[in-house]
Amino acid sequence: MREFRYEALPMRVLFGPGSVRRLPEDLSALGLRRVLVLCSPEQEELGRSIATSLGDAAAAVLPEARMHVPVEVADRARDVAAQIGADGCLAVGGGSAVGLGKAVALQHGLPVVAVPTTYAGSEMTPIWGLTEGGAKRTGRDPRVLPRSVIYDPELTLSLPIPLSVTSGFNAVAHAVEGLYAPDANPITSLMAEEGVRAMVSALPLVVDDPADLEARSEAQYGAWLCGAVLGAITMSLHHKLCHALGGTLDLPHAPTHTVVLPHVLAYNAPAAPQAVAALERALTHVGMQHPADPAIGLWELTIRLGAPASLRDLGMAEDDIPRVAQAAVANPYANPRPVTPDDVERLLHRAWAGEKPTP
Ligand code: NAD
Repeated sequence: MREFRYEALPMRVLFGPGSVRRLPEDLSALGLRRVLVLCSPEQEELGRSIATSLGDAAAAVLPEARMHVPVEVADRARDVAAQIGADGCLAVGGGSAVGLGKAVALQHGLPVVAVPTTYAGSEMTPIWGLTEGGAKRTGRDPRVLPRSVIYDPELTLSLPIPLSVTSGFNAVAHAVEGLYAPDANPITSLMAEEGVRAMVSALPLVVDDPADLEARSEAQYGAWLCGAVLGAITMSLHHKLCHALGGTLDLPHAPTHTVVLPHVLAYNAPAAPQAVAALERALTHVGMQHPADPAIGLWELTIRLGAPASLRDLGMAEDDIPRVAQAAVANPYANPRPVTPDDVERLLHRAWAGEKPTP
């Protein structure tokens, strides 16, 4: 008999090209009449155009979202929200914009609505992060989970190819770790396998033609599923390692996930046969080579799609490997295979040099 626990997270999803035009009815259904629109400086034009389309329901735009949510930006967003009497935040953009909305929700209790434009998946999780004095704190709190998420693939057409690829692998990483998580269950595993299938089938088409709306839709559907997995289960070595790399060396988020994932998967594969079987099915569906060795299959795909090949390419110095390895094992966490500093150093060395992943 199977036994498992699955907790559905309370949120509504609107999916499909043009769905951003349904924002007014969505906000009104939530009783929101004066939202603060949050976006990054690079996406100010999009943030302002969405605010204009909302009329009085958008009270102001704050185009100041930044990677890893610096606490001073979160404080400013909270102050602006209070000054204008906002009754909610509308986060438009990638994980940085959504993360800023979550920080306001955490400190001020305002509900968040998200319009994601990358594949990072933060909009599906109750996980918040705040960076202060060079250190990033994260936690889970149901208050930060967006009440409603609008996935409009038309808004992802402008996502540059390099970011589309690495953001897509960031999503795949959520699903991979979900497949061998200590609290994995049949529902999250279904979402993870389908999420990987959708994302790896879509990414080559997106790279061939970034304006292919069908492929963009499939990628965003995959991102949704992978993000939902991240929101539902406990993460292991891969996410801890990427957190250590980002926190210690400020390496870019999505490219770091992309480089590290095949190496962690190769390391964990011998201890996670069910995850390997699920990934094999997902990759076979899309006709990939090496489906029985998903780590090699994914590694080859990252290279074929032009992703960065090594941590060295991302600016990491070889001397930093021991420090990051220590940070990644500083606190215990669940992982299918026991983790030691030496193992992590060897793994990091391969990822740093861009070598073929091995167990
Ligand atoms: P991001 O949000 O920082 O976006 C990267 C860049 O791409 C920005 O300049 C942004 O303006 C631009 N951009 C986004 N969408 C675009 C589009 N459609 N067209 C053109 N440009 C676009 O990057 P990200 O990878 O989405 O998010 C990374 C952040 O999210 C990190 O801080 C990470 O820790 C966090 N994150 C959190 C969770 C969670 O569950 N809490 C999950 C995943 C990521």
